Amino acid sequence: MAEVDAIVVGAGFAGLRALYTLRKLGLRVTVLEASDDVGGVWYHNAYPGARCDVESYDYSYRFSPELEQEWRWTERYAQQPEILRYIHHVADRFDLRRDVLLNTRMTRAEYDEAGARWTVTAEDGRTWTTWMLVLCVGQLSLPKRPDYPGQDLFEGEVVHSGQWPKRKVEWASRRVAIIGTGSSGMQMTPVIAQTAKHLTVFQRTPNYSVPAANAPVTEEEDRQVKASYPARRAQAANSPSGLGFMPNRRSALDDPPEVREQVYEAAYNRLGFGFALAYHDILLSKPANDTAAEFVRRKTAEKIRDPELRKKLVPMDHAFAARRPSVDSGYYEAFNRDNVELADLREAPIVEFTPTGIRTTAKHHEFDLVILATGFDVFTGSLFKPEITGRGGLTLKRKWANGPITHLGIGVNAFPNLFIVVGPGSPSLLSNVLVSTEEQLDWLATLIAKMRDEGIREFEVTAQAEQEWVAHVNERAKETIYPSAQSFYMGSELPGKPRVFMPYSGGVRGYRRLLHQCAEQGYSGFELRKAPAASRPRRQAS
Ligand code: NAP
Repeated sequence: MAEVDAIVVGAGFAGLRALYTLRKLGLRVTVLEASDDVGGVWYHNAYPGARCDVESYDYSYRFSPELEQEWRWTERYAQQPEILRYIHHVADRFDLRRDVLLNTRMTRAEYDEAGARWTVTAEDGRTWTTWMLVLCVGQLSLPKRPDYPGQDLFEGEVVHSGQWPKRKVEWASRRVAIIGTGSSGMQMTPVIAQTAKHLTVFQRTPNYSVPAANAPVTEEEDRQVKASYPARRAQAANSPSGLGFMPNRRSALDDPPEVREQVYEAAYNRLGFGFALAYHDILLSKPANDTAAEFVRRKTAEKIRDPELRKKLVPMDHAFAARRPSVDSGYYEAFNRDNVELADLREAPIVEFTPTGIRTTAKHHEFDLVILATGFDVFTGSLFKPEITGRGGLTLKRKWANGPITHLGIGVNAFPNLFIVVGPGSPSLLSNVLVSTEEQLDWLATLIAKMRDEGIREFEVTAQAEQEWVAHVNERAKETIYPSAQSFYMGSELPGKPRVFMPYSGGVRGYRRLLHQCAEQGYSGFELRKAPAASRPRRQAS
């Protein structure tokens, strides 16, 4: 059994940053990565049209000024191959690959209370013992597949957007189905529409989308960003979402309609996600949100020629951004093409797959290729896949049976020396995840340095702190429009999942303050122990 100081699980953006940071502290680190290359979601989501909807310069690491200066982004919103090239560049430049074990899926992790160490087991039986266990498994890593009758009978090709095959997938001149109209479905639709013989998009819930306003990055823009990168990073860290946009301090209801129209027009044409901050209360108040929703609906409708299609594609049943909106490049316009059809599943649900296609209650559609853009088991799927057992034989899955319970989204009572990166209870998917990732890992580095210097063997969240944090997460969520919709923020993407609000909606800036406050107060909410808890009178694990 190999002995290390830290096992990091996952070699995506977060896992590589964890490796870099912990290695710098002098720790012996091993990264376990289930797939055959580094890159995480950006390795797997290689579907046509995949691109980031956070600006490239902000969706990149901040830890190395040299890296910031030498990397040249080509587009305002980078495409998946460019992002993957960047991740590979980072892995090579900082010599990270030598500590990454590919094709190594962690299946179990068990805490040894007496020794204050984790024993980690991989699918192939290899084991490690480690002081720290750092989970960088992503929130959108476990693809969700529909379960329609006859799915196995279909004789054409079936692929999932989140596990796009490494072989070439041909869609040109073929009859293609896309099931799902979240960000993935919306991004791939216009690209596939260009060359497919026929494309049918199966929509269950119409989603809001704002234009990406993508463009090549000019030399002058690149020079400008690089000349003031520290200020840009500071602005991102101090903004509510980590995107660098400061919200308009005015309420949407403060301005007369004609002024509001101008504000929305400017934001819509340039800011992508930043549109949601065109006024500070769009995400907080229904009447304010209504004005934004009405604007986006109108702009969307203008792009769609057929009035019947307009009615189906324009979302009417939820508040703007209560479910994650998309940032698209020509999604609605694609439906003006003769080779693109919308199958509205609310009107005519899928009955079954057949050997040649998909039957709905309205008709039989023939396909050569079916693309499942049906999303993921979000937030908890990848954390529950391995069996993680803390003190007293308590598994994470059992502990979280009624929803995730954490302190600050990073630690869990009864799971000492376990650190979750951008998991539930942290800003996570409500933020620029790179900003959140680096913030949390820098915080962890400071904690580990202190533990090492002071001979502390265990950190563990207190039961009281995590109860208070969950209550705080819920309180903040209630101040927003998020709980008003069925969404993966609420665990609604899968039947049987507890309906609780998963991410922290208090903002990146507010969260960062709380992290710092916790450290300044001697890691309030955490017990830091020089001797393992097991060597003291036993407490009941909650
Ligand atoms: P998603 O947002 O969860 O969307 C899944 C879609 O599939 C929804 O339209 C859903 O309909 C539909 N669906 C699920 N099960 C279905 C079924 N059985 N039958 C018919 N339709 C079904 O997933 P995603 O588009 O992959 O995006 C997930 C997240 O990944 C995004 O929200 C974003 O956070 C991230 N992402 C980011 C980018 C980017 O940065 N550019 C790109 C892609 C994805 P319902 O809504 O009715 O459930």
